[in-house]
Amino acid sequence: MSDSLHYVCPHCHTTNRIARAQLGNQPSCGSCHQPLVTGEPVALDADSFARHTGRSQLPVVVDFWAPWCGPCRMMAPGFAQAAKTLAGQAQFAKLDTEAHPQTSAPFGIRSIPTMVVFKEGKELARISGALPPGEIVRWVQSVI
Ligand SMILES: [Zn+2]
Repeated sequence: MSDSLHYVCPHCHTTNRIARAQLGNQPSCGSCHQPLVTGEPVALDADSFARHTGRSQLPVVVDFWAPWCGPCRMMAPGFAQAAKTLAGQAQFAKLDTEAHPQTSAPFGIRSIPTMVVFKEGKELARISGALPPGEIVRWVQSVI
């Protein structure tokens, strides 16, 4: 395991190279100077989705969801809670499949919510259906 990693800023989506040891010390973005580790899900569009899933060396957990999906909305607070629990271990992100259908299409998402874990452009795992926060955390930890 390398001592440093590529971490995509959740605010300006610039790729930062930071030391792993600094992840717990509230590192800030070299470009926009905002905190890199927020513990909050970041809302992605087509461009930022490509940057985060393609470049981040920290695992990225993407929630494919849509505003009309009841279970998706129900899971949202638990997803945010899991993001907080795993801050510095995984970046949590959300992709609105209704607003960005071209971005989600290549992944063949058949039902939502579906969560997919990416690392350096590769899909590590996916799971469909709403989960409570504790199970989201356990599932992510079992994958990364
Ligand atoms: Zn930034």
